[in-house]
Amino acid sequence: MGNETESIGIAGAGLLGRLLAWQLLLRGHRVSLFDAGTRAGVDSAAWTAAGMVAPLSEAVVSERPVYDMGLFALAQWPLWVNQLESEHTLWHQQGSLVVSHPQDEAELSQFHRELQYVTETADGYQWVTRPELHDLEPDLSDRFQRGLLLEAEGFLNNRELLSQLLTTIERLGGDCHFECPVNVDEGILYSAGQQYRFDRVIDCRGVGAKPQQPAVRGVRGEVLHVHTREIVLHRPVRLMHPRYQLYIVPKPDHRFVIGATQIESEDRSPMSLQSSLELGSALYTLSPAFAEARILEQPVNLRPTYLDNNPHIETTEGLITVNGLFRHGYLLAPAVVKQVLAEIAGEEDTPFARFLQRPIPNASQGAGHLSSEPLSQEPLSKEPAHD
Ligand SMILES: Cc1cc2nc3c(=O)[nH]c(=O)nc-3n(C[C@H](O)[C@H](O)[C@H](O)COP(=O)(O)OP(=O)(O)OC[C@H]3O[C@@H](n4cnc5c(N)ncnc54)[C@H](O)[C@@H]3O)c2cc1C
Repeated sequence: MGNETESIGIAGAGLLGRLLAWQLLLRGHRVSLFDAGTRAGVDSAAWTAAGMVAPLSEAVVSERPVYDMGLFALAQWPLWVNQLESEHTLWHQQGSLVVSHPQDEAELSQFHRELQYVTETADGYQWVTRPELHDLEPDLSDRFQRGLLLEAEGFLNNRELLSQLLTTIERLGGDCHFECPVNVDEGILYSAGQQYRFDRVIDCRGVGAKPQQPAVRGVRGEVLHVHTREIVLHRPVRLMHPRYQLYIVPKPDHRFVIGATQIESEDRSPMSLQSSLELGSALYTLSPAFAEARILEQPVNLRPTYLDNNPHIETTEGLITVNGLFRHGYLLAPAVVKQVLAEIAGEEDTPFARFLQRPIPNASQGAGHLSSEPLSQEPLSKEPAHD
């Protein structure tokens, strides 16, 4: 289609659907957006997510292109949020801090070694001493002897971002349909006996695509939201532990998000007692000031994931399927959106094209069916882990 504008139907108004709708409208396309859930997006993984953009933290559990796309995200998110009108700060970039209790120091040292190995440089992170830790986060427990500051990492006020994206989409003339589940085909969306025809359809339904795309699976994640005025944090903090790794992300209005479990299950039922105890007690060991924090929410959702835990874009005439952002949605979305926009514009490949356009892995075909690039080695344990 090249420079021509198109009519585009987008299935799914989670993270990818909203970003793509916004960017396509800015490029003059006519966009209709359909979601099975509500305007707020509470059913999307994007709503449940902590919103961290943490390429170094993720580098040790991902393939190299995930790290490279994460670096791209660190440059792209500030540009994007500057174009959105919000009275709230949507993007924070003061790094993140990784700590461990003295008895778990081996975990922190191992994380450091893995960072060195994966990134091949010492750029972007540094050890901080106990007094430096205190300067960075005065309210953290003084039990931490040292920490790793991952300097460039950032995080989003993701729920406000989703809201602002929708406001902007509607202001730009996007045609939005909520509580309207759809099935997809080339150039067609089907909903409740109706057919909607477009030049092109983009399938961004995350785990909701599974009935039509069995290769997608959901990976359960549980988080705690607490409220307290007893402690202030300026950046995400990760606590290394032999059995689980907790992160805590400061959000507006004295709210903190603590997460997250990573469980091979598509069960969306409420948080288990074990997860609640483990997240809560790890939080308390980060600082006893959390003892009186009030639990506001215990949201649970599924991360949309392919067999290799990597994102994939599949393009046929009239249909682009984009899925599998797993635990890295906010980290990968800028690069994934750039690639989809490039495909629609008929532009040259982006630097991430080769990685994103690899065939979607299918369990029955075996790894030999894939390209020779290595699969992620990330273990998906039943134990809670961080994302
Ligand atoms: C607990 C947890 C913590 C996370 N933390 C982070 C983090 O800190 N940083 C990070 O980068 N990533 C994080 N993620 C991952 C991130 O949330 C996802 O990768 C991202 O949201 C995927 O985006 P998506 O648009 O593909 O899917 P989603 O955001 O899930 O959106 C899919 C949308 O499709 C809609 N839909 C489903 N079925 C249909 C249908 N039939 N018709 C129409 N609409 C439909 C859904 O209602 C939903 O709105 C986290 C995820 C979880 C669960």
